[in-house]
Amino acid sequence: MLELDEATVRFGGRTALDAVGLDVAEHEIVCVLGPSGSGKSTLLRVVAGLQPLDSGRVFLDGRDLGGVPAHKRGVGLMFQDHQLFPQRDVGGNVAFGLRMHGASKAQQGIRVRELLELVGLPGAASRAIASLSGGEQQRVALARALAPRPRLLMLDEPLGQLDRSLRERLVVELRELFSELGTTVLAVTHDQGEAFALADRVVVMRDGRIAQSGTPLEVWQRPADEFVARFLGFEN
Ligand code: ATP
Ligand code: MG
Repeated sequence: MLELDEATVRFGGRTALDAVGLDVAEHEIVCVLGPSGSGKSTLLRVVAGLQPLDSGRVFLDGRDLGGVPAHKRGVGLMFQDHQLFPQRDVGGNVAFGLRMHGASKAQQGIRVRELLELVGLPGAASRAIASLSGGEQQRVALARALAPRPRLLMLDEPLGQLDRSLRERLVVELRELFSELGTTVLAVTHDQGEAFALADRVVVMRDGRIAQSGTPLEVWQRPADEFVARFLGFEN
């Protein structure tokens, strides 16, 4: 459903995305791994319409997204630094995407409660964003991204600030949720365990290029090169 063709982004002399080609099938969960600065967030921002391409193209369901503004792409993005609305309470943040899609007040209330329960924050709807810990804010951001049920959901380090036990629980619940909703997911993580547990396919990036793409098992058993092997923590 998503296709990148030679997608290239340059910042000054630096090539953040270097002719990246990527196909994501409907209902597939793809996790992007790679060192800091390898272009993971740039890749998501390009698909979301927040970062223009210098060359190449992005297609969604066969439609060229060139010139389609972010809010008309029908994709959801949860940012690495979550970017919640500080002046709205938790419920207001989660409901934001629902309001935009014309849900009634009552429907919004029910969905907000469901979503907050899912991310482990039941009863938090009336709390102020500033009163939440970093990890709690991350969970609110996750709930907000899930709220409008986008067909393509992109998550940038969605669970980065959470402790291991909550992360492990959420990964299992997210997989179930995505399969229930039929959501296609492109997620960035630096946590291999998380990627391998969540993903149908793992993409490893290096210097703006895709070093390897394969099922978790393939990548684990047969790293494409020394870089991937080292990145996965294998000793040579
Ligand atoms: P991290 O794991 O640290 O989040 P990343 O893989 O998400 O890293 P990107 O944020 O995609 O990396 O950045 C890729 C490269 O592009 C980096 O060298 C970064 O400094 C550069 N870059 C990204 N955004 C900009 C920008 N707006 N202006 C200039 N350079 C940028
Ligand atoms: Mg990033």
